[in-house]
Amino acid sequence: MSFTLAIVGRPNVGKSTLFNRLVGKRLALVDDQPGVTRDLREGAARLGDLRFTVIDTAGLEEATDESLQGRMRKLTERAVEMADVCLFMIDARSGVLPADRTFAEILRRKSAKVILGANKAEGRAAEAGLIEAFELGLGEPIALSAEHGEGMAELLAVLTPLV
Ligand code: GDP
Ligand code: MG
Repeated sequence: MSFTLAIVGRPNVGKSTLFNRLVGKRLALVDDQPGVTRDLREGAARLGDLRFTVIDTAGLEEATDESLQGRMRKLTERAVEMADVCLFMIDARSGVLPADRTFAEILRRKSAKVILGANKAEGRAAEAGLIEAFELGLGEPIALSAEHGEGMAELLAVLTPLV
């Protein structure tokens, strides 16, 4: 069965790093696809035996007239609508920030199926952030290191029964 996973979260938590890891060289840029803006990147992902479409919410870092908050909200809502499951990423090293709570609220309001990923979890600097992540009320966070490839088996184990 094919499904779509959207990676959402505030800038700099490691969404694109994970996207690139899941997609490898199979990246399909979708600038010219109707219905998908350049702010949403789509790729063919592989994780264990699962094959699926992954969406990265990108382009948030570019300066525009619109507030970052407003852009994040709009893009996230669009990604959630396209997705069957959302991976909501936070940065375990910086802990839960107000912007993270905004995302949690959007995801709850949209009744999205959510997996909570606490990224940058390699090493001890992430321990407090991992515990704090429970506060978001989205269940147990998966400790991930998108950069080092840690937590991928755990991600697979949580994703599999949801799809
Ligand atoms: P995005 O803005 O959410 O797409 O985040 P990026 O994927 O662009 O990553 C932001 C920064 O975090 C980059 O400097 C990455 O190298 C770094 N980063 C991503 N994943 C990890 C990780 O697992 N551990 C650490 N320590 N840094 C990471
Ligand atoms: Mg990015």
